[in-house]
Amino acid sequence: GSVMEKVLQRRSSKMRDFQRGWQESPEGKQMLEFRKSLPAHKEKNRLLTAIARNQVIVISGETGCGKTTQLPQYILESAIESGRGAFCSIICTQPRRISAMSVAERVSTERGEPLGESVGYKVRLEGVKGKNTHLLFCTSGILLRRLLSDRNLDGITHVFVDEIHERGMNEDFLLIVLKDLLPRRPDLRLILMSATLNAELFSNYFGGAPTIHIPGFTHPVRAHFLEDVLELTGYKLTSFNQVDDYGQDKLWKTQKQLLPRKRKNQITTLVEEALSRSSFESYSSRARDSLSCWTPDCIGFNLIEAVLCHICRKEHPGAVLVFMTGWEDISCLRDQIKAHPLLGDPNRVLLLTCHGSMATSEQRLIFEKAPPNVRKIVLATNMAEASITINDIVFVVDCGKAKETTYDALNNTPCLLPSWISQASARQRRGRAGRVQSGECYHLYPRCVYEAFAEYQLPELLRTPLNSLCLQIKSLQLGTIGEFLSAALQPPAPLAVQNAVDFLKMIGALDEKENLSNLGQFLSMLPVDPKLGKMLVMGAIFRCFDPVLTVVAGLSVRDPFLLPQDKKDLAGTAKSRFSAKDYSDHMALVRAYEGWKDAEREGSAYEYCWRNFLSAQTLQAIHSLRKQFNFILKDAGLLETESSKNNSLSHNQSLVRAVICSGLFPGIASVVHRESSMSFKTMDDGQVLLYANSVNARYQTIPYPWLVFGEKVKVNTVFIRDSTGVSDSILILFGGSLTHGVSAGHLKMLEGYIDFFMDPSLAECFWALRKELDKLLQR
Ligand code: ADP
Ligand code: MG
Repeated sequence: GSVMEKVLQRRSSKMRDFQRGWQESPEGKQMLEFRKSLPAHKEKNRLLTAIARNQVIVISGETGCGKTTQLPQYILESAIESGRGAFCSIICTQPRRISAMSVAERVSTERGEPLGESVGYKVRLEGVKGKNTHLLFCTSGILLRRLLSDRNLDGITHVFVDEIHERGMNEDFLLIVLKDLLPRRPDLRLILMSATLNAELFSNYFGGAPTIHIPGFTHPVRAHFLEDVLELTGYKLTSFNQVDDYGQDKLWKTQKQLLPRKRKNQITTLVEEALSRSSFESYSSRARDSLSCWTPDCIGFNLIEAVLCHICRKEHPGAVLVFMTGWEDISCLRDQIKAHPLLGDPNRVLLLTCHGSMATSEQRLIFEKAPPNVRKIVLATNMAEASITINDIVFVVDCGKAKETTYDALNNTPCLLPSWISQASARQRRGRAGRVQSGECYHLYPRCVYEAFAEYQLPELLRTPLNSLCLQIKSLQLGTIGEFLSAALQPPAPLAVQNAVDFLKMIGALDEKENLSNLGQFLSMLPVDPKLGKMLVMGAIFRCFDPVLTVVAGLSVRDPFLLPQDKKDLAGTAKSRFSAKDYSDHMALVRAYEGWKDAEREGSAYEYCWRNFLSAQTLQAIHSLRKQFNFILKDAGLLETESSKNNSLSHNQSLVRAVICSGLFPGIASVVHRESSMSFKTMDDGQVLLYANSVNARYQTIPYPWLVFGEKVKVNTVFIRDSTGVSDSILILFGGSLTHGVSAGHLKMLEGYIDFFMDPSLAECFWALRKELDKLLQR
């Protein structure tokens, strides 16, 4: 007790000495000047008083006003100044890892310290924090994970939940948990921060918590919609057959069953109205290009290019921020621009990208000023909408779409597709142009379409599968899943909850009474989707761990195979070299990873990646994630200490295939051969196409009746990304049924199949599996 007290006291006075020293140094003074110029500074005392007096407060303010970098820092500073620095412990959550990292770095710079002193960060797989860290930026996922083992957040004095206006699933979830925790921790302070003005919603949720608005400084931004953009740039549209798309997308096709009927009709009417008012026929004329900048096929990139040229030629200086849907689009457009005579000239244009997977070095570049007479152009995802502030932006180009996961509860399928943003997002994007002076925003869609946008985006909780979330609710012992989720800000549909519970029962994570099994407990500890977690467990049990580990890590990072727009064919050929006729993108991934490890050992990793169109950065991330999973599984006693024992069956291709199937089920499509063509049908009878870069897309026929896949993507039609061919027997054995309540009768039946279809060496494995499963499923 008192010894600890003394240590903390001593540490606190050291912290105070350091802080005062920095604030009196020339650099420190200059930094303080800058910080004082931020709008948040004027509210500093009001904010500190409000936080001291209330358990919960809601703060809103324009992006860039200093919420994230200043408010947690004010608390830390004032604690340090009063000699209690070491007694406070502040957590500030961010929806994305990249913002947690960049904000932590920024705040330590502002404090004249290296990262990991008083300020640190923690995100999945990475973190910098030390024993003196009292302000920690982390992802909301990390805080949820911490709650698993530390239900009362003992020792934490302040929790900031940032960017709540985004309504991310983890944030909504955190709010339910924290609301439940507050009565048990009356001294804990909860501060919610949001960019837009719907603070009331959150305040009401916390029983009328006080709200404070930080008045911002922004300069006016002129909005140009497509009509004006076409006029400005002289760009012509050929046809407007994408009109159908507007209509369909606006209906949020896959989620309409989740919307109350009234709202659905309202949207339909709005769209119809908007379309009838649209005057697009008048634009339909000769030119070649059409408008589809949001699809990855690049056609509409020409329009963006035209706008960028217009800015570079005709407009005054100032950086440009282009909002696009995702990394694929960004890299395609970047390649296209690089080949452009004006935009591709490095003496005139500094082209940068800003997205979730960029490297830290690249991250720093986007904050730097371009040399004189060079135009800085940043191609960004919606990450640049609110969580990252680039100071010198004067022009914004907004494609109007963002990649969004949606969830079809009726068919129980998640989809990842670019959809229209909300009006709130569009305004937010526009606002980015007014940081330093008045700006211009080019929205690449007609005004009537903007008017048909939803006011706010649907919260993520209402548009994603709830599998992981439900598992976490159980492992946090938060009670009945349905009851718990009904306490959310906007509770998800009962059908969506039911699907998740059914799924967790099917994989054996929950028993019939919704109690968590050992397997469930274990899966909740893995920082990965439960179905991929299950794939890992199966890989361990079936002793083909290494390849499965690579597949799981790859699926939870992203595809390491690059697909440059102008070299699609070469890239496809390079990828297919990794797929020695095994009709599997997952196996290709495994081979590519293993090749990379070998190349690395020989010191030729760079060349290997370059030759094979692989992203070294992604492979590196897969590598780190593999290590982490390996550690967790070892720790849980699921792996033998000797690696060769875990891999005694790794050479068995059909077994690896089977384990992949066990994880991806029910993501399955049947292969229909017709004369010289092939088509693919999913369980709900929907037609799907193979993604162009899939190895399976290169064959005329596939000698397997089924393809299992991890992800569906809807562009115009539905595509499946990575797939692996599987046989009937594999599907019967591993397609969910194996772990679906391991009854004795069931096992008898499966036993028959094993003998009939499979390698006899598998029989032994099968019995081992049975034992392991019994152990896991026991409570
Ligand atoms: P908010 O959270 O309200 O959107 P921030 O606290 O993130 O605002 O940023 C406040 C200001 O700090 C920004 O307007 C910008 O001027 C500055 N800033 C933030 N991050 C950086 C950085 N990495 N480099 C330079 N300046 C930064
Ligand atoms: Mg912020």
